[in-house]
Amino acid sequence: MGYNRGALNMLSVAEARERILSNFQTTATESISLIACASRVLAIDIAADHDLPLFDNSAMDGFAIRSEDTSASRVTLKVVADIPAGSTPKVILKAGEAARIMTGAQLPVGANAVIPVEDTDVKNLEAGTSAPKTVSFEKTVATGKNIRPRGMDIQAGEVVLKRGQTLKPQDLGLLAMLGFANVQVYKKPRVALLSSGDELLAVDAPLESGKIRDSNSYTLAASIESAGSEVIRLGVAKDTRTSVEALFQKAINENVDFILSSAGVSVGAFDYVKEVIEAKGSLNFWRVNMRPGKPLAFGKYLDKQFIGLPGNPVSAFVGFEVFVRPVLERLSGKLGSNRRKIKVRSVEELESDGRESYLRAKLHEENGIQIARLTGHQGSGNLLSLVQADALLIIPAGVKCVPAGQEVEALLL
Ligand code: AMP
Ligand code: MG
Repeated sequence: MGYNRGALNMLSVAEARERILSNFQTTATESISLIACASRVLAIDIAADHDLPLFDNSAMDGFAIRSEDTSASRVTLKVVADIPAGSTPKVILKAGEAARIMTGAQLPVGANAVIPVEDTDVKNLEAGTSAPKTVSFEKTVATGKNIRPRGMDIQAGEVVLKRGQTLKPQDLGLLAMLGFANVQVYKKPRVALLSSGDELLAVDAPLESGKIRDSNSYTLAASIESAGSEVIRLGVAKDTRTSVEALFQKAINENVDFILSSAGVSVGAFDYVKEVIEAKGSLNFWRVNMRPGKPLAFGKYLDKQFIGLPGNPVSAFVGFEVFVRPVLERLSGKLGSNRRKIKVRSVEELESDGRESYLRAKLHEENGIQIARLTGHQGSGNLLSLVQADALLIIPAGVKCVPAGQEVEALLL
């Protein structure tokens, strides 16, 4: 077998990711109702088909006036109309006239400014009061003062949201302003998730000798959902060919974008996942030059794409972040990633065995510089040190030691 050669023949992280990504394309789109759009990825550019605001309106509760009628010495204007929000003004303001107007109400023709009620002799605008006969004030008010002119915020035709954006709550508000009751978004990627191993117990089962609880399916399900994707949890396959095949078959019937498993892809005598892929599909690769997470498989079961993460809980998590999240981001049509990389400095010397290494660390800031401290034992089974970390420090392949204080890249979690 050509597989069991040394690290030199192993795929680099970048090569492995490229091989995986080249097999995935963005999902189809669908039109869904606006209220369901939060956190979904926009599949089209959104252009306004009208100005916002759509009409000149008052920014204050007060009086619509003509700037030329105002003066630093006292003036008294005749109040000829009362304009609540939502109404259409029926007057045309003439010299010496004013109209009581509420915030957001359409400005009457002839008016070119608004004087806030606080600046006038009218002190009472409480709900239910009717408009006074006159209004007096001592103030010059510039043309346009306290008016929100038509098109001030957005002009008809302007592109306000872009394809590939993940919709935030305020984006939904803007879409509502523009009248989008339904929105074209990308379909959520669908992932079938399974664990494998005879040692795995359900979270609510009593502990038994030699067994552990299946934790990966929780970490990974939540990770899939955090990437805006749907997870179909298929449970745990036993370490037999038939059990693994049965769950893969279930995945096929679920019409998913790909199958994601953990464990069973190493060199153990009971690692049937890899074997089933080789027998019923094809194995593209099964080892990557990284730590943790070397036994990472990619291939197909029948015609379905398959990614096999390592079994150790930290390896599974790191493998997800390095390979699976980028796949989900591509499938989902998202532009950009919700994982950022920054430069940090480690307080201690960092060691690696020469593979591209991902070390768990906690960051803090000192004089504007991000400082990293390892969270403890870096064994691939030690989930607590991952729980305590807020970043993974990335030591490039070929580097065995990073001296304390030297810059290193950190993937923020
Ligand atoms: P394997 O790749 O099957 O040899 O598994 C590697 C290690 O990961 C073993 O110690 C397994 O017990 C552990 N492991 C496998 N699957 C899970 C899981 N779903 N949850 C927690 N640990 C697991
Ligand atoms: Mg196993």
